[in-house]
Amino acid sequence: FATRYISDTTINMQVIPISCLTDNYAYIINDDSSKIVGVIDPSESSPIISFLKKNNLKLNYILNTHHHYDHIGGNIELKKKYNAKVIGFKGDSHRIPGIDIILENNEEWTFGNSTVKVLHIPGHTLGHICFFFQKEKIAFTGDTLFSLGCGRIFEGDHKQMLTSLNKIKKLPKSTKIYCGHEYTYKNAEFCMKYDNNNINLKKHFEKIKKLRSNGLPTIPSNLEDELKSNIFLRCDQNDLKIKLNMKNQEDFKVFKKIR
Ligand code: ZN
Ligand code: FE
Repeated sequence: FATRYISDTTINMQVIPISCLTDNYAYIINDDSSKIVGVIDPSESSPIISFLKKNNLKLNYILNTHHHYDHIGGNIELKKKYNAKVIGFKGDSHRIPGIDIILENNEEWTFGNSTVKVLHIPGHTLGHICFFFQKEKIAFTGDTLFSLGCGRIFEGDHKQMLTSLNKIKKLPKSTKIYCGHEYTYKNAEFCMKYDNNNINLKKHFEKIKKLRSNGLPTIPSNLEDELKSNIFLRCDQNDLKIKLNMKNQEDFKVFKKIR
């Protein structure tokens, strides 16, 4: 596969998506002001190492959203090579390889000059978390919220997953969403099946088609666009309920029907 390097500069934080495996993204976060470098969900070590080498960077932290192999596969090698610290959720400390710093729900952790809030968002797995960089308004949502989709429910149940999505929905609208996989095109097709009158979705899909045909990532998305076009975030919306013939039904039932 080809590894692409696209950077995105926010306040003082660079977020660089690194393609891993077939459709995973790891993200290198580089805080220019403090020279602290981290990586989110390294499924493998080699693309991370080659990026760091090329840019003359070292690695301080490895952050994991959950324990699946396609998110933690590079932990041990990276930890050894750079003497980096592994950050993960307390409830998953038994299955995050090499974990050093154990965080709890709602805990705030400092990365360089940034404050990172941990949100426990179970459903895909029971110990899934989101890392929210408060000042920068950047959320790493792993396999819980995808652009135009949501993760499969492996360990939790639908109620948990919907509650977790609702937690993410409460973040500031301008929050940039960095998720674990490039599934957006397929997700858009799925959304269109149920929600083809949604003008915002159609617009979003056109943007995605263009990006993908140029071989570019569709990530980051932002919460405002997701709220308007991701059906899994629209289970409380009357127009979608009517479209599904589920007028006056609970949001949870709508969610269960489509997920
Ligand atoms: Zn996963
Ligand atoms: Fe995954």
